[in-house]
Amino acid sequence: MGQVSRLRGRLRGWIPTGGGVRPEDWARRHRLLTLLLASTVVGLTGLGAALGGLDLVWLVTVLLILPCVLGAVRLRGRRLASILVALGFTVACGGFVAMLDGLTEAHFSFFIAVAALALYRDWAPFGAFLVATTLHHAAFGAVASEQTYGHHGAVTNPLMWAVLHGVAVLMAAGLQTVAWRLTESEEQRAQADLDESEAHLSIAFDQTPVPMAILTPDGAIRRVNPAYRRWLDLPETLPDGFNVRDLPLVPTDPNSLSLLEEQARTGSAVAFTREYHRPDGSSVWVEVHSNGLRDRQDRLRLIFVHCLDVTEVQRQVRQDALTGLLSRAGFEEELARTAAGGEPVSVLYLDVDRFKAVNDGSGHSAGDEALRVLAGRLTRCVPAGSLIARFGGDEFVAALPGPTEVAVRAGRAVVAAFAEPVPVAGGRLQLAASVGVATVSDPGQAEQAVLAADTAMYAAKRAGGNRLEIFSEQMRVAVRQRIVAEARLREALAGDRDVTLPVVFQPIVSVSTGHIVGAEALVRMRAADGLLRGPGEFIGPAEETGLIVPLGEHVLCSALRQLRRWGQDLDYVSVNVSPRQLSEADFVPTLARLLAETGLDDPARLVLEITETALLSTIADLPARLDAIKALGVRLALDDFGTGYSSLTWLQSVPADVVKLDRSFVAGLARDARKASIISAVLWLARSLGMTVVAEGVEEAEDWDALRAVDCPAIQGYYFSPPVPVADFEALLRTSAFVHR
Ligand code: C2E
Ligand code: MG
Ligand code: MG
Repeated sequence: MGQVSRLRGRLRGWIPTGGGVRPEDWARRHRLLTLLLASTVVGLTGLGAALGGLDLVWLVTVLLILPCVLGAVRLRGRRLASILVALGFTVACGGFVAMLDGLTEAHFSFFIAVAALALYRDWAPFGAFLVATTLHHAAFGAVASEQTYGHHGAVTNPLMWAVLHGVAVLMAAGLQTVAWRLTESEEQRAQADLDESEAHLSIAFDQTPVPMAILTPDGAIRRVNPAYRRWLDLPETLPDGFNVRDLPLVPTDPNSLSLLEEQARTGSAVAFTREYHRPDGSSVWVEVHSNGLRDRQDRLRLIFVHCLDVTEVQRQVRQDALTGLLSRAGFEEELARTAAGGEPVSVLYLDVDRFKAVNDGSGHSAGDEALRVLAGRLTRCVPAGSLIARFGGDEFVAALPGPTEVAVRAGRAVVAAFAEPVPVAGGRLQLAASVGVATVSDPGQAEQAVLAADTAMYAAKRAGGNRLEIFSEQMRVAVRQRIVAEARLREALAGDRDVTLPVVFQPIVSVSTGHIVGAEALVRMRAADGLLRGPGEFIGPAEETGLIVPLGEHVLCSALRQLRRWGQDLDYVSVNVSPRQLSEADFVPTLARLLAETGLDDPARLVLEITETALLSTIADLPARLDAIKALGVRLALDDFGTGYSSLTWLQSVPADVVKLDRSFVAGLARDARKASIISAVLWLARSLGMTVVAEGVEEAEDWDALRAVDCPAIQGYYFSPPVPVADFEALLRTSAFVHR
């Protein structure tokens, strides 16, 4: 029993299921077979005519075929239509055989019909044909055996021949069935493979969190994954003909190529990051990756698109977190985009003056708060539509369309707005800004405008800050010179400093006796080109770059070394100290160390000269620092006294021991009674505050006389000696005293 059922199962396995042809393929096959059937009418008619007249057999055959053709064409369902075609074929073959009086070869037509009908791959027409053929042979074989079988044996025994013909047709049909069955199972395997890879693809496509879509080259959206639907809020099923142009995303830059254009252009993979607008006006940054699928003729068939929403990343990169303005990167990108316009572009470059002092003095959170307030003020001062950025720290940049005048007007407003007190937690800050302005007529050069505005800002800063400067070509030259000076200075500091940065000494003379009482140490630079340069060429750059710190230490060291060497021959040495040096956190400890290393008998023999600029600069704990210097026993001198605005105020607030009267008061003193009066007054004031005075710039004998007349204690100037190298200074020390020439 089990064996039988197994056998039946095996057998069934060999029998095709049938009906597996897809509707469109079936329709094509059916059309072909119907056409073939219709053509038999023409063929039979031709045959009839050739055989000498269209007889009754022909007429019946044709009249039976025609309704089959008509039914095959008109009927909707598959089964009946195909059965009609099969019956039509049986009739055509039967008619053909009859018209040729049962010619054996005419029976071949049945085999042709079997092969043709196998195209349906369906049991209904196939079966109908087999049944109809057998019936036809049996019936016609019996009734009209001469016209059915063209040889004697069959005529005498038609039933057996009907069976024989049936078996032959059945065998032909059986082999067709095997072929059909094999194709079916091969197709099933191919389908299974396809289903599996489709399943893989579906998992990759549908489960990924990355929005993906498949498009045709004309932009029609074939398929999107759930992530894509969620991302763009699309319905579950997209309307017919839904196109990329119907997506709720519009590129911000109308000049940018669309994905489709880029795909068509490059042919292969495409990747770009672009900003789009959503219908609600918000913007999205999308990183698009796409790949084109091409056919054998290299025509673009499908486009696969991956979209990464990088809005958040872009926002972080393009926006300054503290102020919400653009970041440097965002600004540069936007600027490059506006460069596509045709108008001139002006750039404002702003830097808050002495902002470091705010951070140091009031704390970083107050500093941040102030920056936020300033960002708001800046935004209000520049025309709407300007690009506004913070370049980090206390630097702001704005780019506005329009000529220099527009930018200058905005820049002036900014300077005024930044000078308004800024309320922060725990008080108000008084700030100021330096602003540089530059304009380029060609927007393609906007980047250069930023550099130029930076240079102009720098010039504003050098000029004291709280002001606006318009870029000029000289500024660029000056910047270049400073760069050269800095390089030279670095080189000098790296070399043997006693050779590359020699310190020279200028005698300070007692007015009454003409004896040398002290010396001012002044630095020179001997660069690689062999030229000796004065401090005017390198102290500025040294200050700006911070190189003044090692330079100042070198001068201090040399001065102390000489002072010790000269012993009792010289009372003191005066050394210039720049604001930047003084503001160094470890200035006082370094000074103490150098004093200790030199082993100087009396620290009061060292005088540090500071200028009014040092006092004005925002050194957080200046008074404490000056006191610390005094505590070491070192004396302080107020240098260039009288050149600043508030010199007299300093006299009472700075613990100075010496006042160095600027040479502008001394020059021509003998011929100017007013100068003499001022000097007398300063002398009196200094004396009453316990300070001594040195007058600088004594060039003529008359100056000496005049200063002696007002009882100035010490003087310095070319009249006695310019600053000279150590050996020459020692020669001066050996001559007993300067005398009136
Ligand atoms: P300063 O401290 O006021 O130095 C005096 C300057 O006046 C020196 O110029 C000196 O050569 C010049 N001088 C002296 N007597 C006369 C005179 O009779 N007539 C005229 N016309 N000039 C006279 P120098 O050496 O070129 O120095 C210029 C400035 O550079 C100094 O002004 C000082 O501020 C700065 N400096 C020089 N050496 C150093 C240093 O080692 N460190 C720092 N921080 N600054 C220095
Ligand atoms: Mg000086
Ligand atoms: Mg001076």
